[in-house]
Amino acid sequence: MSTKHSKAAGRFLQHKELAAWHDETLWMVRAKRDKISKELPEWEDLRNMAEAIKMYSNSHLDTLLQEFEKNAQANGAHVYWAKDADEYCSIVHHILESHHVKHFIKSKSMLAEECGLNEYLEDKGIEVVESDLGERILQLMHKRPSHIVLPAIHIRKEEIGELFVKEMGTEPGNNDQTYLTHAARKNLRHKFIEAEAAMTGANFAVASTGECVVCTNEGNADMGTSQPKLQITAFGMEKIVPDREALGVFTRLLARSGTGQPITTYTSHYRKPRKGGELHIIIVDNGRSQILADKEHVKTLNCLRCGACMNTCPVYRRSGGYSYTYFIPGPIGINLGMLKAPLHYYDNVSACSLCHSCQNVCPAKVDLADQIYCWRQQLQRLGVASTPKHVMSEGMKFLMERPGLFDWALKNASLVNKIPHWMIYNGLNDWGKEHDMPVFAKESFNELWKKNKVK
Ligand code: SF4
Repeated sequence: MSTKHSKAAGRFLQHKELAAWHDETLWMVRAKRDKISKELPEWEDLRNMAEAIKMYSNSHLDTLLQEFEKNAQANGAHVYWAKDADEYCSIVHHILESHHVKHFIKSKSMLAEECGLNEYLEDKGIEVVESDLGERILQLMHKRPSHIVLPAIHIRKEEIGELFVKEMGTEPGNNDQTYLTHAARKNLRHKFIEAEAAMTGANFAVASTGECVVCTNEGNADMGTSQPKLQITAFGMEKIVPDREALGVFTRLLARSGTGQPITTYTSHYRKPRKGGELHIIIVDNGRSQILADKEHVKTLNCLRCGACMNTCPVYRRSGGYSYTYFIPGPIGINLGMLKAPLHYYDNVSACSLCHSCQNVCPAKVDLADQIYCWRQQLQRLGVASTPKHVMSEGMKFLMERPGLFDWALKNASLVNKIPHWMIYNGLNDWGKEHDMPVFAKESFNELWKKNKVK
């Protein structure tokens, strides 16, 4: 019954120290989120407002996106619509090619990750440099992010030290964080200067003003866009918010939920091209319209990509981001993966304890655990349910529909205690690897009740 997730989690847990550190660090971020959210008496009102605004925006996407387009164009931006990942990548490439760009700098964008933009451009001979420190480390290591806000959370500073010796000529054995950060900053500065174009994602796009809002803690988006004259910004169409008042609700929630900060260090509003420059904005669908039409899962479009559901998830914290097969891990990734390709990513739905902690912390009230539960009910229909689990649940159904047989089974349940130890705990029984068999009572609750109830 081992799943791909549980096998990968097993490998992650072999590194005991790193696994403990991963768990504790993310729990600390969750605790910071709790503390700072409690400082706002209106916190729950904000969450309710965020949910309502998202529901409104998602049901008015057509008009809001057109309003955004009109205002962005009036501000002097070029606006494009991409129906899928291929179209998005080729629009970016076309813009870069027509401007003879060979060096391109990017701030963190999960949309670019989703659409495989870096690989696409690199294949066409364009150098792509990630400017977010965590993303840059992963890019140099040829690895993917393991968390949407803290992409390199699983990498130890010793590994970064070794990488920087090779890539940046730092002092061997010096793994001091400040030293390494300064080295990365110096190295990136050349890339910022060299870049002929810069790209950012967008945390929010404001329909009434035509502006894109980008939240970072490193200021790398601003560094990137302040030198080259060509700027590209791309966002998934669910990032639209009606106006700045709505934006204020989300900026109050985002950093508090994600990292426990009152606000991100930089919140940049990109509204018009810089003097003598160009601003190109790409609005991307890539499957979002289909989610919009899916009543049970439409709320995944509320997601702000804050990462809070990962920080709180007991499974994510103890199994690491790479144990999930979809590029976004944790509760939101399980759901997005299922929406993208259920037959490919169904394995992830087992990586959930259904504790509901994720949906209790989600600032936009995405019903993450309910949706995972709902996906689990679909596994049989999809033809991918685990056979032993299916047999067991059919067996339980059979018993529970027959009270006489059920009582008889309970009466004899203590016979299970006599099953030899080796039959439960052996290499063929995955269940026995992680569980202790409960000792069945000699008398069932029903029998005790009948015997002891006061007449
Ligand atoms: S689902 Fe909610 S908690 Fe998870 S990343 Fe999205 S907004 Fe944050």
